[in-house]
Amino acid sequence: MKNKHIKLFIPGPTEIREEIRKEMASPLIGHRSKEISLLLEEISSKVQKLLFTKNTIFVFTSSSTGFMEAAIRNCVKKKVLHLSCGAFGERWEEIAKRNGKEVESLRVPWGEAILPEMVEEKLKKGDFDAVALIHNETSTGVTNPLEEIAKVIKKYPEICFLVDAVSSMGGIKIEVDKLGIDVIFAGSQKCLALPPGIAIGAVSEKALKKAEIVENRGYYFDFLEHFKYWKEKKQTPATPSISHLFALNKKLSEILFEEGLENRFKRHQEMAKIVQDWARERFALFANEKYLSPTLTVISNTREIDIEKLRKNLREKGKEIAPGYGKLKGKCFRIAHMGDLQPEEIKELLSEIDQFLKIK
Ligand SMILES: *Cc1c(COP(=O)(O)O)cnc(C)c1O
Repeated sequence: MKNKHIKLFIPGPTEIREEIRKEMASPLIGHRSKEISLLLEEISSKVQKLLFTKNTIFVFTSSSTGFMEAAIRNCVKKKVLHLSCGAFGERWEEIAKRNGKEVESLRVPWGEAILPEMVEEKLKKGDFDAVALIHNETSTGVTNPLEEIAKVIKKYPEICFLVDAVSSMGGIKIEVDKLGIDVIFAGSQKCLALPPGIAIGAVSEKALKKAEIVENRGYYFDFLEHFKYWKEKKQTPATPSISHLFALNKKLSEILFEEGLENRFKRHQEMAKIVQDWARERFALFANEKYLSPTLTVISNTREIDIEKLRKNLREKGKEIAPGYGKLKGKCFRIAHMGDLQPEEIKELLSEIDQFLKIK
């Protein structure tokens, strides 16, 4: 079955430009060739630029959830504090539990952010060896105050700071070394505007040292196994999705050298403002105003419209938006403004929603 092209305004997978889709179809190279080592080295130095870091870069052939599991399995020896403000935070807690780790959760109501003083309070009392934070909670449209939280965690040098930047990497500026983040990762299909299938992360020396004393790291996601292959060969332990690597390399060049990082972050802010202004006038924003995400907006269904009818109407016009996540289904809908989307495309989408609402 060949689907018709529907432009995606959903928080992953995001819309992928044709040149990138074509890059995926490049002829393959061997996963033990000199060429792949050079390709991975290029990717590594570009990801370091994207994340303002000197840390080791790993590319896993898995979706982001694989990296969530990897962070836990490699960097939690005993007890992890999960900072949780939505569905992805809860998923990460579940992953840690199923891997047999002792878990404590700091949960705030959906729509609210994790605040630094809450983290401080927990850290003062607990004997954690890792803290896990979702930077941008895709179920609620909240961006947690990463810099302020990082300042608190820095006071505890024994703690590994693990950050899920799945829906923010490439859309929001994150200065990894300055913030002291030990593990940070994202999947390819969100702000990086690539097809799903790989996850990209940066791992600090402290995290690698930590892995040495953690048992049962498994094999596929073992940081030390990946590090060994990287150090000796600039390769990966198992065959990576080579097609994705071609596309990633090209995409990173576009981001860094054609659009420019600052422009990219600004474009995300600009698109967010357009959607937020529109939504405030017609509906309401689900997330706390102080922590609105630059990459997606969760809109409360205050007009009590039939969201599925709206989505069907938009699909007929070749566009797709997302329903509310999990328990927010029916109560909210989500518009992603991440990746390669342009402000004009966002405006066109909003005017089509206005037509559906019979506004103007
Ligand atoms: C999408 C998402 C994930 C899970 O990503 P997969 O690629 O489906 O594994 C995890 N965390 C956040 C914040 C996300 O937005």
